[in-house]
Amino acid sequence: MCTAAAYALPSADGSFEKVTIERRELGPDDVAIDIKYAGICHSDIHTARNEWGSTKYPCVPGHEIAGIVTATGSAVRKYQVGDRVGVGCLVNSCGKCSPCLAGEEQYCTNGATWTYNSPVPETTQPGGYTLGGYATQIVVDEKFVVAIPTGIGLDVAAPLLCAGVTLYSPLKHWNAGPGKKVAIIGMGGLGHVGVKIAAALGAEVTVLSQSLRKRDDGLRMGATHYYATSDKQTFRQLRGQFDLIINTVSADLPIDDYLRLLALDGTLVILGLPEHPMRVTGFNLAGFRRSLAGSMIGGLAQTQEMLDFCAAHGIGAEIEVISADDIDSAYDRVVASDVQYRFVIDTATV
Ligand code: NAP
Ligand code: ZN
Ligand code: ZN
Repeated sequence: MCTAAAYALPSADGSFEKVTIERRELGPDDVAIDIKYAGICHSDIHTARNEWGSTKYPCVPGHEIAGIVTATGSAVRKYQVGDRVGVGCLVNSCGKCSPCLAGEEQYCTNGATWTYNSPVPETTQPGGYTLGGYATQIVVDEKFVVAIPTGIGLDVAAPLLCAGVTLYSPLKHWNAGPGKKVAIIGMGGLGHVGVKIAAALGAEVTVLSQSLRKRDDGLRMGATHYYATSDKQTFRQLRGQFDLIINTVSADLPIDDYLRLLALDGTLVILGLPEHPMRVTGFNLAGFRRSLAGSMIGGLAQTQEMLDFCAAHGIGAEIEVISADDIDSAYDRVVASDVQYRFVIDTATV
């Protein structure tokens, strides 16, 4: 075993504190990574504060990891010491089920292993559950490591490892592109990357945000239209307009109001994962043969494809770099929708 410095939450209502954790010895297929930056995803907050009800403590979140390879196992072929690499939400899967064979490891029917808070043998992670990227080092099987193209800085690339692929995957699946009207609900970490990617794919992009406060940024990032959902007129004006609506909101929303904004055969994709169930009226689906769907991150091949796409289109996340001491206050600001647009921890401060 080797040790790493990390920031851990000791309990759901505690504060982050500096700890020393162990990482496994390098196996033949493993890559050791010196973490440089770790993004703060709202899923980190849902988990750290036990909003999904299954958190083990101490909890070290972090699944938007960018860093440099420091060592490789004897069988590693894809990476060398010094390579710029990323790790997202997944660190293992069965590799045998049909989703795994199709490169959709996130839907592994035998249960994917998430980068933090996932049960694993003690030999994989001492303590018996995974510890994430708010740390100085991590050891990951090379199949779950992606290459960060040289055109993207490690700091602005880190959030792409979750936020980027979480938006890229449904935008590709539901064919966002020229001639398609796409709305993104929420201009947060996921939403702002979604605006950039959807615009780069050629779709006509509308942002549906609580207010017009971030309008200029949204238009600069590639949106053509920007509406405030606090204004009831928005829902009257946009009725029946969109082919695809992507909901990135971390809180409960009146889903019926948004379903009515879909055109015939339109789809509303749920990405946001608030703790409470949502309520949907059948008439709003049946009326225009609308679909309500969901999507979970993306597989490893698609994560690499997304990074290459972002590098080719000059897309990175817009970030505020923070020191590890500031994680607690950053969490409060994310919950208050007061982040432009992703906090990224400089792990030199861990
Ligand atoms: P975030 O940065 O906090 O962004 C969420 C945005 O939602 C906010 O910026 C805000 O945008 C809007 N919002 C927040 N509270 C709201 C409220 N009460 N009513 C209306 N709008 C509200 O969070 P994130 O990191 O992008 O993550 C968003 C959600 O996606 C979380 O639930 C997270 O767990 C989930 N997630 C899912 C996946 C997946 O694979 N499906 C992957 C990653 C994250 P405006 O200020 O513009 O209104
Ligand atoms: Zn995430
Ligand atoms: Zn599988």
